[in-house]
Order: sequence, then C-alpha cells, then structure tokens
Amino acid sequence: MNTYCPACGSAELKSEIKRIAVPVVYGDPVEYEERIDQCLLCGERGDFAGGNDARIEEALAGAKKHFVKFILERISNCGIKVAYLERALDLPPRTVSRWKNGESSAASIALLRTISMFPWILEVADSGFDQNTADMILINQANKIWFSRYKHLVSHSSVDLVLDSDNANFHAFFQVQRSEPRFQYMPVEDQ
Ligand SMILES: [Zn+2]
Repeated sequence: MNTYCPACGSAELKSEIKRIAVPVVYGDPVEYEERIDQCLLCGERGDFAGGNDARIEEALAGAKKHFVKFILERISNCGIKVAYLERALDLPPRTVSRWKNGESSAASIALLRTISMFPWILEVADSGFDQNTADMILINQANKIWFSRYKHLVSHSSVDLVLDSDNANFHAFFQVQRSEPRFQYMPVEDQ
C-alpha cells in the first residue's frame, strides 16, 4: 500500500525510522520503531501511514507479558504454587496461565505485584479474609521482618497476641545474641 502526503497528495516521501523508548510503569522502558515521513514536495512531516500507535501497543503488550512472567517467577521463588494462588483467591483454574499468555489486565498485574510484595496476603485470602487470622498473620510477618533485619542483635524473636474478654495482651519476646563460644561442641545425631 502506497503512502501519500496528507497535505498535498504526493507519493514522493522520505521516511526515517528511529528507535524510541517508551516508559513502562512496571519495568524497564520498551523500544519501538517510530516512523516519520516527510513529503519531498511540500515538506509536511508526520506518521502518514498511521502505524506508530500500533507499534507502540505491540511493544507495550510484549512488555506486559514479560513483566507478568517475571513477577510470577518471583512469586514461585517464594514457594507459592499457582494452584494454591488460584484456590486462595477463588480464581477459576488456568486464570494464571491465561495471564501468562498475554490476557492480563491492569487489575491482574496490580494483584500480582501485591502478592509478590506481600506473599502472606494469600494466607489471609485462604482464611476467607477472616480479620483475626489476618491480624495474627500480619503481626507474625512483622516479627519475621524485624528479626531478619536485626538478626545480628537477637538470636530469636517471637510475638503473640492473647485475647480474653477484658484484655488484649501483646507478648513480644527477643533473645539477645550472646557472643560466640570459643569452641562449639556439635553432638553427632543418632541415625
Ligand atoms: Zn506534501
């Protein structure tokens, strides 16, 4: 199909193709080939064939697919199985594989990002979004994060919330790291 200048109708055009980076909210910028036509007769410039938008869309769709794959790998590295994720969130089976194949929406990407940041959210979902269970999971996760950041200072930490009809007791237990003994005896375990 020939391309003509929209201003004067001439087919004598000069086209230049440039690689343009498009920013993507969820990853590295993607590149697409931008074509700019120039009319040799009247000097008009522009995307006369109107193909640039489609090439941007194609590049963004590829980036989205790539990102979904990347984030699913991260979730899988946390030991979370796709079947568990789908069951906990009441998603129809094979939902995740449809996302992987490019049928993902902004909402599914937002959900995957949330799970990858807070994997324990699936345990909350699995509990049927029970508030008390959710609170306990959150408190325990906070303890784990605290412990992982300060494990050079403490050798053990745990938290517990005990509720009765009148009181809520929050117990936090931290065991301070002792200096390493000079020789450590490691008993051989019975086979
Ligand atoms: Zn022209």
